[in-house]
Amino acid sequence: MTVLEIAAPDDWHVHLRDDHMLASVTPYTARCFRYALVMPNLVPAICSTAAAVAYRDRILAAAGPHARPDFQPLMTLYLNDALDRADLLAGAADGQVMAAKYYPAGATTNSAAGGSSLLAYRQVLEAMAEAGIPLLVHAESTDPDVDIFDREAVFLERELLPVLDQVPGLRVTVEHISTRAGLDLVRANDGVAGSITPHHLTCDRSDVLANGLRPDLYCKPVINSREDRDALVAAATSGDPSFFLGTDSAPHPLSHKLASPARPGVFNAPYALEVVAELMFQCDALDRLEGFVSWHGADHYRLPRAGSTVRLTRLAEDETTPLDEVTTVDGQTVTIFGVEAARRWRWEPLTEPEQVGG
Ligand SMILES: [Zn+2]
Repeated sequence: MTVLEIAAPDDWHVHLRDDHMLASVTPYTARCFRYALVMPNLVPAICSTAAAVAYRDRILAAAGPHARPDFQPLMTLYLNDALDRADLLAGAADGQVMAAKYYPAGATTNSAAGGSSLLAYRQVLEAMAEAGIPLLVHAESTDPDVDIFDREAVFLERELLPVLDQVPGLRVTVEHISTRAGLDLVRANDGVAGSITPHHLTCDRSDVLANGLRPDLYCKPVINSREDRDALVAAATSGDPSFFLGTDSAPHPLSHKLASPARPGVFNAPYALEVVAELMFQCDALDRLEGFVSWHGADHYRLPRAGSTVRLTRLAEDETTPLDEVTTVDGQTVTIFGVEAARRWRWEPLTEPEQVGG
């Protein structure tokens, strides 16, 4: 039997939504992950420290009775015209705000408030570089002339590279890397790291399109080619500290996933750890699991690695019957990603984490 112990994992990119959905999905993140870097794309977007602090309070209230004692949401502000530079700097200095997130307008769920040019925020970015505040980017061109499978590479070349060139010292996370181009940019630039999702690591576009359309796997950036997926797996299993887990867990009601147009997003928080553990097992790389899910992100964000540990056990097939959907309090169904991996793994907190103060 395969058993291993790792430092408690962190999730460096998660959508917890609000209201009924927040109440239904937050306990899954809070029971597994120590830190959760929470995306600000609510409607209206989280653009001020005050709004982020209020959202953080709603998240903690929704964390549920099985939350890790050291569960801690880390808050981000939405980088657009409404963001006030002084407020961002003050919020970060107070420890209330971790980072600012840039969405190209229209790229994904609730991104209508986003920007049309990253370099247009140069003054904010220079202040962030000075203060050591990380920039998170949804790297996807919204140019309708660019093929959907090329949009990450085009955004990086047209939008991010000029910023890296003109704002030295800016710390950047390329979020949910979906292509080799994203990996290459991270490797070539100091201070730039990349998060990778469980679904981009375990699926390619044939899984989405070849055997009947799978709206549950439709997300932004879209799941790309087999070759890209293989490159992502190689990065995640390489031990390179520039790459770490960000689930991009993004729940939508099933009725919205089955609508036309379907809403992009994969809800994977319940079994994200199991999916990555099974991938590492299949790649004979379980010794790289702890770095990818527990160490590299904390190091990039200059936070302490978890002192508490989790034990993972690989099970005989069908030893458990995991849930495959969640029902929200208002009766909506949300499909869970990763059920197959959840049949093969069980995890439990091993050492009691210390309660977070305040
Ligand atoms: Zn996201």
